[in-house]
Amino acid sequence: MSGTAVAGAIRPPGGLNRLFSAGQDADYRAHLAAFGALAPSSLTPELVDELARSGLSGRGGAGFPVARKVGAVSRHSDRLWARSPVVIANGAEGEPRSIKDSTLLRHAPHLVIDGLLAAGAAVGASKLYLYAPAGSIDYARAAARERKDARSIVFVEAKDSFISGEASAVVNAIENGIALPTDRIVRLTTTGLRRLPTLVHNVETLAQVGLIARFGAAWFRSLGSERDPGTRLVTVSGFVPQERVLEVAGHTSIADILESCGVPLDGVAAVLVGGYHGAWIARDNLTANLSAGGLAPHGARSGAGILYVLGRHECPLVASASIVHYLASESARQCGPCLFGLPEMASLLERLATGDREQGLRRQLEALTQSVIGRGSCHHPDGTAGLVLSTLSVFAADVDAHLTGRCLRTAQPSRRSNG
Ligand code: SF4
Repeated sequence: MSGTAVAGAIRPPGGLNRLFSAGQDADYRAHLAAFGALAPSSLTPELVDELARSGLSGRGGAGFPVARKVGAVSRHSDRLWARSPVVIANGAEGEPRSIKDSTLLRHAPHLVIDGLLAAGAAVGASKLYLYAPAGSIDYARAAARERKDARSIVFVEAKDSFISGEASAVVNAIENGIALPTDRIVRLTTTGLRRLPTLVHNVETLAQVGLIARFGAAWFRSLGSERDPGTRLVTVSGFVPQERVLEVAGHTSIADILESCGVPLDGVAAVLVGGYHGAWIARDNLTANLSAGGLAPHGARSGAGILYVLGRHECPLVASASIVHYLASESARQCGPCLFGLPEMASLLERLATGDREQGLRRQLEALTQSVIGRGSCHHPDGTAGLVLSTLSVFAADVDAHLTGRCLRTAQPSRRSNG
């Protein structure tokens, strides 16, 4: 497949502004002027090979190779037995620190629709869904009304909660209106929505598919690195002049991203990478790049592209305790680890943050994290435990100081006094 040829006279976007190159609030006319129409020749099963050549990985969290997921769904499709797959565009980012999917659905909804149509054609889908929270879904619906080829897409509004974007919760929300994760022994790619092979892709992933279907794998790989090709969206928030969504080349370092947002690196204590289920990276390690290989030594993954910056005068234990409280409140309370473990974890971390000097607190927290990991129906307890372990490790000196009644960051004594 020659991607550049299918786009006719349209030139592929140059530079780093790919996904938003049709401009702000792009309507269908602006979209076609920037990208051209999707050629029928790009709406075929051969797209899977092009995706494999592109090296595109999922942009929603797990970073799974897109071609492998699409290929798995195709293999489990069987029209003879009425097992035509379904494809779901997932725009429920859930993460309070992420606005990249809502930004994409607002400014480039047609690219997401293109990717959904292309992925649907590649696997021979019988049904296409777009799942997104109120607000975002209105932009997508309005975009679909502008074009004939999107009439068959079914729009489902997502609940605004942390776990509503988890893949099995997405399927449950569409099937029975309850956005709760379920324990899955069999993958969704084998049996998902109404027991059909189901492809759930993040909306940014599908927007990238829409571009690759036009311009091909070689163009996609012309930015980024061999192991982290193309571009990705990141949301930068916290100790920044302004919360922002940026499109960056794969393999870009965290330090470069922060500097491009006007963040003075000497004012940073650490960056939470990958969102509330992510890991802290201390200032000394901000030269790490956002690829899987660059983040692995720090126990982090880029996940949904979230960078939450902590200023050096903010207490990291207070910040982490606040996040863990939020995560405990967002669980579906249907499994023991979430029901009992996460509130207890939040409470122990808060005691540490607020100056309780009981010397066994750190050990109790570590033991609690080990007792919840792998015990829930979904990864919510694991992700929360991972954040707590990252906090205890990256901010070990802060924990030591708090246990002696001091805070290294705020220059204030910690509040409680029971030592
Ligand atoms: S582990 Fe927690 S969030 Fe996941 S399904 Fe069970 S109760 Fe819900």
